[in-house]
Amino acid sequence: MDSIQKQQDIQQQLQALRGSFAAQLPERIADIEQGWKVLLSATPPEADLYELYRKLHSLAGSAGTFGMPELGQQARRVELRLKAKLDAPQDWSEPEQAEIETGIGRLRRLVEENTVLPAETLESPAGTAAVTADNTQADNLVYLLEEDVSRSARMHNKLVHFGYRVETFYDRGELMAALQKQRPMALIMDFHTREVQAACTDWLIDYQRDQVEELPVIFIANDLSFEVRLQAVRAGGFAYLDQPVDIVALVEHLNAVGAQRESEPYRVVVVDDDLHLAQHYALVLSQAGIESRVVDQPARLLDTLIEFRPDVMLMDLYMPECNGRELARLVRQDVSHVSMPIVFLSAERDQKKQFSALMNGGDDFITKPVADLRLVAVVESRAQRARALEHAMSRDSLTGLLKHTKIKEAFELELARAHRHDAGLSYAMVDIDHFKFVNDTYGHAVGDRVIKSLAHLLMQRLRQTDIVGRYGGEEFVVVLPDTDSEGAAAVMEEVRKAFSDIEFDTEAGSFSVTLSVGLVSCGNCGEAETIAEQADQAMYEAKRTGRNRMVCVEL
Ligand code: GH3
Ligand code: MG
Ligand code: MG
Repeated sequence: MDSIQKQQDIQQQLQALRGSFAAQLPERIADIEQGWKVLLSATPPEADLYELYRKLHSLAGSAGTFGMPELGQQARRVELRLKAKLDAPQDWSEPEQAEIETGIGRLRRLVEENTVLPAETLESPAGTAAVTADNTQADNLVYLLEEDVSRSARMHNKLVHFGYRVETFYDRGELMAALQKQRPMALIMDFHTREVQAACTDWLIDYQRDQVEELPVIFIANDLSFEVRLQAVRAGGFAYLDQPVDIVALVEHLNAVGAQRESEPYRVVVVDDDLHLAQHYALVLSQAGIESRVVDQPARLLDTLIEFRPDVMLMDLYMPECNGRELARLVRQDVSHVSMPIVFLSAERDQKKQFSALMNGGDDFITKPVADLRLVAVVESRAQRARALEHAMSRDSLTGLLKHTKIKEAFELELARAHRHDAGLSYAMVDIDHFKFVNDTYGHAVGDRVIKSLAHLLMQRLRQTDIVGRYGGEEFVVVLPDTDSEGAAAVMEEVRKAFSDIEFDTEAGSFSVTLSVGLVSCGNCGEAETIAEQADQAMYEAKRTGRNRMVCVEL
């Protein structure tokens, strides 16, 4: 389904949801009227008052969202009267009774008049809808505009080692023709003279103006003056590299563009006992490209968290079985959910209650009804921060790969999944050969570049579902789920070969480096520890028998 059709489909679903919300209103009002009658007959237990209060509170929170703001406001008036009674319980006086009755009567009239406002169309937030026209973009295709023929072959070859397909152009016209046929993931502009750079930058600014989505451009140039760099930014430049270009830095920028494009949609769990409202939020979020899961029974929440791994939780404050504050505390007791943002979404206006919710593990408070765009904005900004934080905590700062403890955790999860589905997996231990020699000969900074290159190569060559981690200094671990020995050996052999083909240029000369790999594949896998040990032994076997090779073991 293309994205325009999907948006229309969601609009229809939203409309349907409004319709079914309106359809159940008479019954809801009848229920409120009944609740009020029960409350007045004999001496009512306090629970009945609370129940009635909760029903009005929920109506006050949802009616505005479904295009009935007046109904929402009226429900709020009655709700506040009931709340005053909850706070200071005493028998109802006659004027009080009359007031509530009139209030509920108004609710019924509003429902009978059925004054539904036309559906406000949700403008899709910047960036999410703009993926319509130009989707024929190739994943690893890079265009290179070169001024200097003699340099292009070197750059071309290096990028190819890192898994990019490179097409080189020496002429703007040819580049333009190619851009119209197929859009690359990025464009690299390699300049040596100021005049050519200025002309190309102006041309590029014009080109970008007609694009639905800006084409990411990397500039490589000598001129580092502010004005020229500013023009580059205006032309879509997201990186500006100095000559002679540091290939590792260049690849890092390309990988970052790739990672951004491939990043999974944000996931949100919506906890609300009002299923209509929860589904409405879910649809609004999905219209903005956010995945969501609705939980209307709090008891189901913990299972959903484990299985769905949301980035953000949206939580109603008042629910029949337990309230949002209690639920937030319960969730926070599990360390693996400590950093997940919890946003309360409630009709509660009492600031004291709001603060109390925040003190109990919430991160933010939005009062219902909430405008669709604001809901999306809050969720996106929270999710973005949470992902960035999670990334910083679990990733190694030099390579951006998973840290030792995280790769172990990720491997255990993958192994558990393999056991559940009776599937196999492969596990590789990769170690750089004679790395100490590299450090001793070319210096630690060059050694770091080598480590980063291997990390980039691994990220580029492996699938998104594969797990890559930096196990220690120059040791890496790769977990390939659902991959048999043949498949895994082919991939890892390709990595080994590609890495040995990379030439590192330094002031002290060029050199290349090799890898030793220990690969374990299992159809019916045992313990994590056994697999890791076997891979380690296989890797040492590769070292013993001459390095620059792979030793495979089948368990
Ligand atoms: P082998 O072929 O047997 O693996 O020999 P090797 O020299 O690669 O192995 P050894 O374990 O003796 O040396 C690894 C070196 O890696 C030692 C350590 O100083 C270096 N190293 C570890 N972490 C880093 C890092 O982050 N940056 C740099 N530049 N060097 C590192
Ligand atoms: Mg080594
Ligand atoms: Mg080592």
